[in-house]
Amino acid sequence: MKVFVAVKRVIDYNVKVRVKADGTGVETANVKMSMNPFDEIGVEEALRLREAGKAEEVVAVGLGPRQCQETIRTALAMGADRGIHVKTDAELQPLAVAKLLKAVIEEERPGLVILGKQAIDDDSSQTGQMTAALLGWPQATFASRLDIGNESARVTREVDGGLETVDVKMPCVVTTDLRLNEPRYASLPNIMKAKKKPIDEKTPEELGVDAAPRLETLRVTEPPGREAGIKVESVAELVDKLRNEAGVI
Ligand code: AMP
Repeated sequence: MKVFVAVKRVIDYNVKVRVKADGTGVETANVKMSMNPFDEIGVEEALRLREAGKAEEVVAVGLGPRQCQETIRTALAMGADRGIHVKTDAELQPLAVAKLLKAVIEEERPGLVILGKQAIDDDSSQTGQMTAALLGWPQATFASRLDIGNESARVTREVDGGLETVDVKMPCVVTTDLRLNEPRYASLPNIMKAKKKPIDEKTPEELGVDAAPRLETLRVTEPPGREAGIKVESVAELVDKLRNEAGVI
């Protein structure tokens, strides 16, 4: 079985994100970028499947500008076998990513497609669901455990207040949750080896996909700053303030 893993290049989770002065988006110039953390979990899961003999090949797929190749290389350094880069400088929204992924998936016919449950930059949590819908494939989102059977996958999902276990027929789309695994670090020899691994380049035009944005961002604003806290002298004063000033009890 061939496993596809989507890897998105996003602002590193340690960076304090700044909104652009004109409110059209967030500042990405000179900002550290990394692989979306949920996609690192996706790569790790795919590698574990290969190591367990359940998959033969792990293919990392990234979509976006030239720099996305760095993210694909990171997946190759973790152990993925090869990469596919759908190159475009245009803004890609989840529907466009899903259409492009569908086109590549139909060319390559993987048995399993793993995406992150959400990208930490747009927080959309839409791409996996849309990809499955466009392909007409089953999907299991927010996976915290994945067991591959002969023709189906058993997925434990993190849902409100508990866990849900579902069986989905393969081929299917799975999106990763935080507790699925702990991703490995790329070792130095593997980083060197990754330089020689192939990355196929494609464009939306070659794939015959109209990737134009369908949503318009009206404005992006910073969250309101927090007001300074105060110290109270006693529990009675705290209760009084909670009741009479904050109105929360
Ligand atoms: P989102 O729906 O934007 O929250 O993204 C969910 C997941 O879709 C991410 O964790 C990635 O696995 C995948 N994804 C979204 N956009 C891209 C992209 N440009 N390149 C590769 N994968 C992507």
